[in-house]
Amino acid sequence: MESLTGDHRSPLEAFLKQYLDQTGGVWDEIEPQVYDVALPDGTELPTGRGSGSGVLRLAFDPEALPEHPSAQLASFGTPLVDRLLNDALQRGRAGQFFFIGLNLQPHDLLNRLRRSLTVAPATIQIKTVRALHFPQVAFWFQTAFVSDQKEQMVLPLAIDLHYGREVRHLEQILDPTRLAEHASPALPPARAISLQAGYQLARGQILRSIAALANNRGRELSERCDVQIGRLQQYYADMRLELDEQKKRATANAEEAAGRRAERQAALAREEQLRIAELRQKSQLQADLRLLQLLRVEQPKLLVQISVTAADHATGRLDVVWDPLLETIEAVPCPVCGKPSYEFTLNKSGQVVCDSCKPSGVGGKPSKR
Ligand SMILES: [Zn+2]
Repeated sequence: MESLTGDHRSPLEAFLKQYLDQTGGVWDEIEPQVYDVALPDGTELPTGRGSGSGVLRLAFDPEALPEHPSAQLASFGTPLVDRLLNDALQRGRAGQFFFIGLNLQPHDLLNRLRRSLTVAPATIQIKTVRALHFPQVAFWFQTAFVSDQKEQMVLPLAIDLHYGREVRHLEQILDPTRLAEHASPALPPARAISLQAGYQLARGQILRSIAALANNRGRELSERCDVQIGRLQQYYADMRLELDEQKKRATANAEEAAGRRAERQAALAREEQLRIAELRQKSQLQADLRLLQLLRVEQPKLLVQISVTAADHATGRLDVVWDPLLETIEAVPCPVCGKPSYEFTLNKSGQVVCDSCKPSGVGGKPSKR
């Protein structure tokens, strides 16, 4: 995969060239920021200049346009670029990369383990170390909030499929200079939950974020709606007052006039209710969520099996994961409750439990994992 860093071009320019290279299109750089491009077969062009011949002249710099009157400006938000971005998204819905260039022989692993992990009162020894590919999946969700206005946003979230929990350092695992299409070195896969299960976890997490965002927007919306309803009610109150004034002035044919006023009052009341209902309807917030894209990143990590020994205790075992990207031990799920922790206790019977499992965990339940 071509490196994206160290490229003097704008991200949009770099995207266009990669897009054309990958999809079978052709580009020719006429001068800096001006290109002749032939789009891949089947790409439908938005109508406009230059779309007849199949070759387009594109300028990324608006100042180049006077010199190239046939050129189209390529910038975010133009129909052409929207179309290309959309097409790239459709083509790249799901991808898989391998993370490369990691040091799988960390210096002094045992001491680093002992520094980050405690299993009281035991001593930690390394039994085995295996390098495996650990899958992590980045999901990009698009959400739209629709009410009297529309707002869209893209929310990314990554899940570690080995432990089934969120990956916080999303940017680091997506470093384009470290992702490759082929594994190096080839490694066996670590145990992992399915992509489907990972998606469910990601979706659950995103829904919680969206609920929080929606609550804020909902509150603002209902405040705005209340203000508008207040104004509306004032308007109709004024109208009713005016009808009452007319009543005082009316003299001749009083009965007929009273009938007309009653009809008018009723019509006003109906109109008021209708308009309030309309306002409430418009102020309802709808949120919509869809998965745009996902990327699976297979990252080499070390699965380290440790034994923990203490006098008068049966020997315990624990699997821990060394992440060579962050150079840390990942928080270890408690063998009893599954809660991630760095502090454990070894029972007499050889079971390793977290602090919250300690009192009831003695002689405890069978391991979940
Ligand atoms: Zn526990």
